[in-house]
Amino acid sequence: MIRDTNFDCDVILTVHFLLDQKNTVLKPNKPNKNTADMKTRDKQCEACKTAFPTMYRIQYTTPKMWVFVCEQCLLRLKKDNPAYTYGGTWKL
Ligand SMILES: [Zn+2]
Repeated sequence: MIRDTNFDCDVILTVHFLLDQKNTVLKPNKPNKNTADMKTRDKQCEACKTAFPTMYRIQYTTPKMWVFVCEQCLLRLKKDNPAYTYGGTWKL
């Protein structure tokens, strides 16, 4: 699962990179913060790949593994999910 996640992440980064290459017109108002956040050591949501100041440590897959997700994804992932286990809250 970790390898899959990294692979997905690489694909997303590559797509962003290609899009940036295509759109050579610079848009100063467009924040590039998300890309920068992905490179920091801050935890980011396993599901939506967004960093949040408060993350929730859960298991929601089989075989079980601990991941951090945001509140919105937690609510979505735990719904009707027998593999869901809550493991604590992580704050910056
Ligand atoms: Zn999320």
